Amino acid sequence: MGKYFKYSHLHLAHTLHNTLMMRYQRTLEKEVLVRGVGLHTGDQAAMLLKPAPKDTGIIFFAKGGEAPINANVNAVCDTAFSTTLGMNGTKVKTVEHLLAALSGLGIDNLYVEIDGPEVPILDGSSKHFVDSIVDAGIAIQPSKRPYLKIIKPFVFKDGDAEITALPYEGRRISYRIFYPHRLLGKQEMTFECGEDLFIKEIAPARTFGFLKDVQYLRTLGLAKGGSLENAVILNDTEVLNASGLRFKDEFLRHKLLDFIGDLSLMGFPVEGHMKASRTGHTSNLKFAKALLAASDCWKIAYDRIEHGPADLKYA
Ligand SMILES: [Zn+2]
Repeated sequence: MGKYFKYSHLHLAHTLHNTLMMRYQRTLEKEVLVRGVGLHTGDQAAMLLKPAPKDTGIIFFAKGGEAPINANVNAVCDTAFSTTLGMNGTKVKTVEHLLAALSGLGIDNLYVEIDGPEVPILDGSSKHFVDSIVDAGIAIQPSKRPYLKIIKPFVFKDGDAEITALPYEGRRISYRIFYPHRLLGKQEMTFECGEDLFIKEIAPARTFGFLKDVQYLRTLGLAKGGSLENAVILNDTEVLNASGLRFKDEFLRHKLLDFIGDLSLMGFPVEGHMKASRTGHTSNLKFAKALLAASDCWKIAYDRIEHGPADLKYA
């Protein structure tokens, strides 16, 4: 294999099948610039995604910040309404949709230079990040990607939230929501992790909020950049966005997207079946830390089974 080779969209769609495989690490083929307003701060930011060497991980460089911020669970400093990373007083807010895009496309190594306090919210989903990365191209790097392979069931509970990690030959996430609202209620889906399915079925799902909560968030100094352009807003009975929903179960899919982004902060893709119910950023990150600490439940592995073509299943 050459040092790097171009990873076309066609390859993304057709590389993975039911075979025992390991994969090489990945970064971007070239730089990607993303600009936009932050959901909570309302501040504009320009964000440059730059290729990084193998074994780097994802590292944020915030303007004016002394120290780089490694995207891992130890750098999480706030999980209220979004996930914030910080180091020595420098913070980057709302990293989860970018991290979900990187995890969903298997980008392991990246420098993220940002000149504002918050990752741009764009349309409220991971779609723009994914499209930009696929356009730039994905470079394969000459080093194997380690996985965290679940070898023993691990159960975590935190209030209403519950997450279980089970041994499984592949990467599967089942996610369940429950909201007392006509359009939400109880919903559940299972996602076999794969790039193509992530791009089409998960990445476009937008963040959402309830109108009655927006005023409260603003009193907290949050949601300043929020609008119907970057979030699905619900009142007591319906969706207020004139364009409606992208998927009938867009809310469920977005919660799954957030889960993928938050869990990527473990630093390893998980091989196993994760079942999550009614979680948020706080419980996602508590789970990630607890699972890493439960070292009898997993081992680091390089070979795994990939299932394909992947499918979404509903309970
Ligand atoms: Zn989100």
